[in-house]
Amino acid sequence: MAMRRGDIEVFLSENVYMGLILSSVEVYKKECFGLLLGYRTPQKYIVEHAVPYQSAKRGHKWIELRSDKWKVIQEVLNNFPKLDMIGDFHSHTMYRDVKADVSLSEDDIIHMQPDELQIVIAVNENRRSMPWTSNPDHTISGTINGFYFKVAAYYFPTEENNDGKRDPQSLCMARIVCPFVVG
Ligand SMILES: [Zn+2]
Repeated sequence: MAMRRGDIEVFLSENVYMGLILSSVEVYKKECFGLLLGYRTPQKYIVEHAVPYQSAKRGHKWIELRSDKWKVIQEVLNNFPKLDMIGDFHSHTMYRDVKADVSLSEDDIIHMQPDELQIVIAVNENRRSMPWTSNPDHTISGTINGFYFKVAAYYFPTEENNDGKRDPQSLCMARIVCPFVVG
């Protein structure tokens, strides 16, 4: 599915970038799954922390977090008023001989909350070294140590989910800004 490019920017700190990359390579070729903490302004998501879920069951195409664990995380975070749970991240890896890409699966979309940011890291093996760049589709990509990463961020525009409906057609890709790797 071709995604619309939205007006919203997602700012990734050095911490978040490192968190996303290390979480994805740690469990490769399985998928990683984690929480995004930060805050949101009308035009931007500022992501301050990417925290991997340690209790999430990892599979190739599925993932789940038990809701009691989710509740505990939420309760602890209530003590830190400057940080909100602004979304999730997960990785996509090669499946059989199909290369991983950043497009959301139907399952990814079903589990996405209307106000949530969803970051996807596609990880493939690539011996050729490529510098990190921002791409026209709002993603960033590059290689590290034989892995090729592509990072995308998705959200539902607020004006279109007032009634809580999530029309996959309205999903947008936010423009990723990560000064640590792409100056
Ligand atoms: Zn996915």
